[in-house]
Amino acid sequence: MHTFKKSFTQQMPIPESAIASAVEVMRTGRLHRYNTVSGERSEADLLDKQFADYLGVKYCLSCASGGYALSIALLCAGVKQGDGVLCNAFTLAPVPGSINNAGGVPVLVETTDDLTMDLDDLSHKAKATGAKFLVLSHMRGHLADMDAVMAICRQHNIVLIEDCAHTMGADWNGQKSGTFGLVSCFSTQTYKHINSGEGGFLVTNNDEVMAKAIIYSGSYMLFGQHPTLPPLETFEGIAKGTPNYSGRMDNLRAAILRPQLAHLDEQCERWNQLYLAMVSALSSLRGIRLIERSPKEHFVGSSIQFSFPDLTANQLSQLVKGCTARGVSLKWVGDSQPSGYSSKYDHWEYLHDQPRLPQTERVLGSLLDMRIPLTFEQSDAASIAQVIAEVLETL
Ligand SMILES: *Cc1c(COP(=O)(O)O)cnc(C)c1O
Repeated sequence: MHTFKKSFTQQMPIPESAIASAVEVMRTGRLHRYNTVSGERSEADLLDKQFADYLGVKYCLSCASGGYALSIALLCAGVKQGDGVLCNAFTLAPVPGSINNAGGVPVLVETTDDLTMDLDDLSHKAKATGAKFLVLSHMRGHLADMDAVMAICRQHNIVLIEDCAHTMGADWNGQKSGTFGLVSCFSTQTYKHINSGEGGFLVTNNDEVMAKAIIYSGSYMLFGQHPTLPPLETFEGIAKGTPNYSGRMDNLRAAILRPQLAHLDEQCERWNQLYLAMVSALSSLRGIRLIERSPKEHFVGSSIQFSFPDLTANQLSQLVKGCTARGVSLKWVGDSQPSGYSSKYDHWEYLHDQPRLPQTERVLGSLLDMRIPLTFEQSDAASIAQVIAEVLETL
């Protein structure tokens, strides 16, 4: 039997230019973003500017993590204690966690067979609960029809917050993911599209949101140092009226991220070549269902999802075990127990009184997820598919 030898969790090394830049920051000793000498722009400031320019938005605030950025984004958007916040039932644990952290109450929305938010259920739940906030996770890089999402938000007066942890570099019909919401968040945690270990971005075009975000993130009274700043009068009432929830990005991480960001689009292109190689190799497997994608969706294929709708739960569990034993690391999203990074809404037991979501349970019940690290080559796709095919034969 065939085995696969590469690691599914091995990311690319940090580029030499990024290492040199990090060493330079360490030599100065000035690692805190507000610790600058006269005339100096900190790496964190430069990163804010570089990412805002990349997305074509007015403001970016680099933060300590993606989950942290989301929780202050919700507060900046106006979430108050006990407010309902619509969000995908299929997402990762930091999303309901950030809603909870901001005092909101997640209202979970069903998932389609194509892994996007079910927009009929979104309309229905918006009407039924009156929730005025939506955290839309572009989970595993799958973008919902953004024109339809925006129409629903307008119709129900919903404030949109995008979770772009898996769509850095992606767009919908030419408009970059992260530019639809009042405020949007990204992650630079190791398994995302650029890697600083931990980190995240909050982006917005809104002056008041940015002023609040800077104060929440812990600027002490040094907010005036930000190179792109909302007009100073925006801070009246905000600077003293907003608590400090320290969660800044430091200059060391920013230094590591800036050279990576400069090469993001090339990396996304490589991911998509690997993704297409995987699609073509996997599509020969008996009984497989791959996910349909809209031609308007310009995704980044840093992971791939597929299902075997005809296999029983027991067979899926055997398939995952057999593949793992042969070096192919698959996650069964619908597993009854959470493991590793996988996460299912009924594992978040602190969300009391959530109705069951039968459609999401059905979709996730047969769903498998595989990471595609950039340390893979296109030729690895055939080896991976061969392992899965051989294990399928044994079921
Ligand atoms: C990674 C991730 C986040 C943010 O995670 P952090 O580890 O806090 O940076 C948010 N949403 C999704 C869907 C994610 O995968």
